[in-house]
Amino acid sequence: MKEMTGSFRLNLQETFERLRRRRERSPVVSIRERVAMSFEFFPPRDEAAAHRLDRTLQALARLEPDFVSMTYGAGGSSRERSTRAVARVAKLFPRPVAAHLTCIGSSRAEIDSALDEFVDLGVRRFVALRGDLPAGADRGLLDRGDCRHSYELVSAIRRRGDFEINVGAYPEKHPESADIRQDIDALLAKQDAGANRAITQFFFDTDKFLRFRDQAVAAGVRMPIVPGVLPIHNFDGTRRFASTCGAGIPSWMLELFEGLDDAPEVRDMVATTVATEQCARLIEHGVEHLHFYTLNRSELTTAICDILGLGPRRRADSRSLKRA
Ligand code: FAD
Repeated sequence: MKEMTGSFRLNLQETFERLRRRRERSPVVSIRERVAMSFEFFPPRDEAAAHRLDRTLQALARLEPDFVSMTYGAGGSSRERSTRAVARVAKLFPRPVAAHLTCIGSSRAEIDSALDEFVDLGVRRFVALRGDLPAGADRGLLDRGDCRHSYELVSAIRRRGDFEINVGAYPEKHPESADIRQDIDALLAKQDAGANRAITQFFFDTDKFLRFRDQAVAAGVRMPIVPGVLPIHNFDGTRRFASTCGAGIPSWMLELFEGLDDAPEVRDMVATTVATEQCARLIEHGVEHLHFYTLNRSELTTAICDILGLGPRRRADSRSLKRA
């Protein structure tokens, strides 16, 4: 295992060197000026998790992301926790917060009142999603809601004000779509309804993202399509989650991560290298914004951003959390 750790460390060093040389080749505009980033969190379930999230925010504040976002349970199932978490982040974190909002199973009045709560907290950015039926939920829930698809939620938010509206996109096809064309049509409908930016489901096959982006642009999608990057904290968990949301795990990843959940130090190095390489390739292909699924942890996201040169901008003053 020691040998393995050594060789991955070497690998990481090589990646770092390569990226440093690449950065030096384009000194006119630093990578941090060209590439925006956002970090996604989920609402903590209890006090201990809330303290862990505070520590994560403290660690990530140094990177000065363009915004952070907080997920929202489908059918309003986490409404209270999400609102509380958004309030806390808005109070403590020195960057703007985007609130996720879902519409499945919710009436227009419920959507409006959730929106009001966020706006009262100073939120001006949203991630508008349909949400999924919770496992075992009554399918009748679908008919009780006023919006069946997220483009209707986008319209509802757009009617309420000049907010920034992000939506979901699926480079490997949403599991319910017949084909990629259906996903691109859905994306166009969200754009027409007033969405400003699409953020993708996570993916590991970067070519699939690049093809999807080309197809979407050719079909008329003008809003930026931001890749969602998932640093792997637990490979078995990632594999299970990927199978539910239609993200493929390439065979090279299966080989690379095989058995590493029992060797967290090595796994973290491999995960950092894999995600850093993916981000570097995306940036080389013109990506100007990376969205990180942090899973409420800071270590891997910090390492990836630091290696890429996406560290803090010039100032050194606003790097810590605001006072509670
Ligand atoms: P939609 O855009 O409604 O699409 C869902 C399906 O319907 C797709 O197959 C689409 O092709 C199809 N479709 C869309 N419009 C039409 C139409 N007019 N006619 C026919 N078919 C149509 N879930 C949560 O519960 N909470 C979260 O906080 C959350 N955050 C997320 C963040 C990101 C960045 C992403 C990518 C996903 C997130 N999700 C979240 C998961 C999301 O709710 C699910 O992927 C959900 O299944 C689809 O949501 P959507 O907004 O893309 O739905």
